[in-house]
Amino acid sequence: MLRRDFRMTIARGEPERWWKLYGFSEPKDLILEDLALVRGVLVTEGPMEKMEARLIRSGDKGLIRVRQNIPELGRKRFAIAHELGHWELHKDISQLFACTSDDMIASYKSSEPEGEANIFASGLLMPSNLFQKQIESTVLSLPKVRELSSYFLTSLTATTIRYVSLSQDYCAMVISENGKIRWWYASNSFKQLFYLSVGTDLSPNTIAGSFFLKGEKPMGPEEIDIEAWTQSSSSSDLSIFIEESIYMQRYNKMLTLLRLP
Ligand SMILES: [Zn+2]
Repeated sequence: MLRRDFRMTIARGEPERWWKLYGFSEPKDLILEDLALVRGVLVTEGPMEKMEARLIRSGDKGLIRVRQNIPELGRKRFAIAHELGHWELHKDISQLFACTSDDMIASYKSSEPEGEANIFASGLLMPSNLFQKQIESTVLSLPKVRELSSYFLTSLTATTIRYVSLSQDYCAMVISENGKIRWWYASNSFKQLFYLSVGTDLSPNTIAGSFFLKGEKPMGPEEIDIEAWTQSSSSSDLSIFIEESIYMQRYNKMLTLLRLP
């Protein structure tokens, strides 16, 4: 097995093993600072510029430092879990990881170690068996994502990424900024049919676009022409997405949920 395949197996399997090993039954049992200490890592907080968190390793002892003014609990928990991922997976790669907020959303494709740490973190905070149970017979919606994020103590963004990566439905999340698509994440079935172009201008016919272009405040879910979001539908009988968008003022970004009706 290739080294990186092996790391991926650990990234996927180890967090679920920990849940059993330490007897966690729900997310609030997971006190990350305590768990880190058991694994040989001390978690501290302190001022940091540009970075979200970092890990320093010295032999079998580690130190995680998290930026002290991270505004949300979910985001802070993700940062600690991400560094724990580096701790478990990347001993042979580096003794020091300094991670930015972009690293916290990196995919496996864009950066191997960062993507692996994110897969690890996401599995630790939102184990797939527990998460799957919560999304059975639901559709992707903002109220559902909010409910999940308060149960799993995770950010809206991390929760939505987990949702679309485990969902069998046609659904996606899009983050846009200054009227342009910045990045997106989608379920496997969605990716087989649709492609969104990063960096392109949002259409005024989308909820997200009409917010940036006309200042229209996003309301509840709406039916939107698929063509307003993508030109790549391979199936002509599909014409409508259900779009729900929410403006994240703190980050000046729009979070959009897309799904088929
Ligand atoms: Zn990292």
